[in-house]
Amino acid sequence: MTARMSALDSAQHQLAEAVKQLGLDDGMHQMLATPRRSLEVAVPLRRDDGTMQVLHGYRVQHNLSRGPAKGGIRFHPSTDLDEVRALAMWMTWKCALIGIPYGGAKGGVAVDPRLLSRNELERVTRRYASEIMPIIGPEKDIPAPDVGTDAQTMAWMMDTYSVNSGYTVTGVVTGKPVSIGGSEGRGGATSRGVMYAAFSALREAGVDHRGATVAVQGFGKVGGLAAQFLHDAGCLVVAVSDWKGGVYSSTGLNPAALRRHLDDGADTVVGFPGTDTITNAELLELDVDVLVPAALEGVIHEGNADRVRAFFVVEGANGPTTPDADAILEANNVLVVPDVLANAGGVAVSYFEWVQDLQAYFWTEDEVNAKLKLLMESAYDQVSVLAHERSVSLRTAAQMIGVGRVAEAHRTRGLYP
Ligand code: GLU
Repeated sequence: MTARMSALDSAQHQLAEAVKQLGLDDGMHQMLATPRRSLEVAVPLRRDDGTMQVLHGYRVQHNLSRGPAKGGIRFHPSTDLDEVRALAMWMTWKCALIGIPYGGAKGGVAVDPRLLSRNELERVTRRYASEIMPIIGPEKDIPAPDVGTDAQTMAWMMDTYSVNSGYTVTGVVTGKPVSIGGSEGRGGATSRGVMYAAFSALREAGVDHRGATVAVQGFGKVGGLAAQFLHDAGCLVVAVSDWKGGVYSSTGLNPAALRRHLDDGADTVVGFPGTDTITNAELLELDVDVLVPAALEGVIHEGNADRVRAFFVVEGANGPTTPDADAILEANNVLVVPDVLANAGGVAVSYFEWVQDLQAYFWTEDEVNAKLKLLMESAYDQVSVLAHERSVSLRTAAQMIGVGRVAEAHRTRGLYP
């Protein structure tokens, strides 16, 4: 195994482990390992200076056995078809695990959104949306934000789809602004879910979350608000980081002040007054109670897993820990709350948003947050019970529940023809 296992290799490795534990046959393993549809599209972009450039876009529907496909759209320079396949597979298990009636999908465009103007970003989004339009829709496949995209991206996608349909289709994407059919609470949902997952793990281990030290890798949509919620709940957030590096303070950071610093025009948290500068690699190795990797996949690998000193790793990102790193963390008694459980709050509230759009009747933020808390705590409990019963890691237990439910749907529906 290489030190940097790809996301797809990781996803396939995890699936194979669940298949083995569940005793599924080879044919079913192949069904589950193979994406149902992979669409690759050219996304021509007219730059503001008049030149033209062709970007590569993708949408993969991994599985449709339990309902329409669901999953985010990523704008990132290293996005490729294999990465999107892995992320789509993880969405399938995540939706099944938390019991929402979706299959898994993911999409993306290989582009660095920070290098585009707002107008260029809008043109990329609209062209990409129109290229994947034949396979998306509220009953077919429902995109949402992911790395490098946000509520505005979803607004442009919803508008493009609606204009081309001739009427407004709010349920075609989730993570939209509230003004056009988005859900209260969706913006902070993934981060709130990370907090609930972390607290479930701490509670089970008999650790009080108040005063627990936390390091968060990634100060974006997920990590930024996770740091905020954990801080507000009484944790001591000692380190956060972004693409440029991290900041550390042994007496605790103030996430709201860091957010204001960025809103005032700083392009990184690095250099925030009163903090020490650390690297992203150093953040992962800090002596803290809880480590929240909330950026990209593969950051905890066999080359650094042995140096992780946190007691709990709560995966805000998708796929931050490779399988070989998992084995090292397990041997070192580090409890990993896996991505498909820990970051499921985002797609959970996406589901609530879609339900509200379909019934055109909207809930308050308190209602949404209460439903999210119940769903996360119930998912954690199911995973923990199975992990103890079968003496497997939380990751393997989570995958077993997700994979098992999808296999069951395949068996029940039967094979056509
Ligand atoms: N991109 C998020 C995830 O990885 C949310 C997906 C969704 O809401 O459909 O879970």
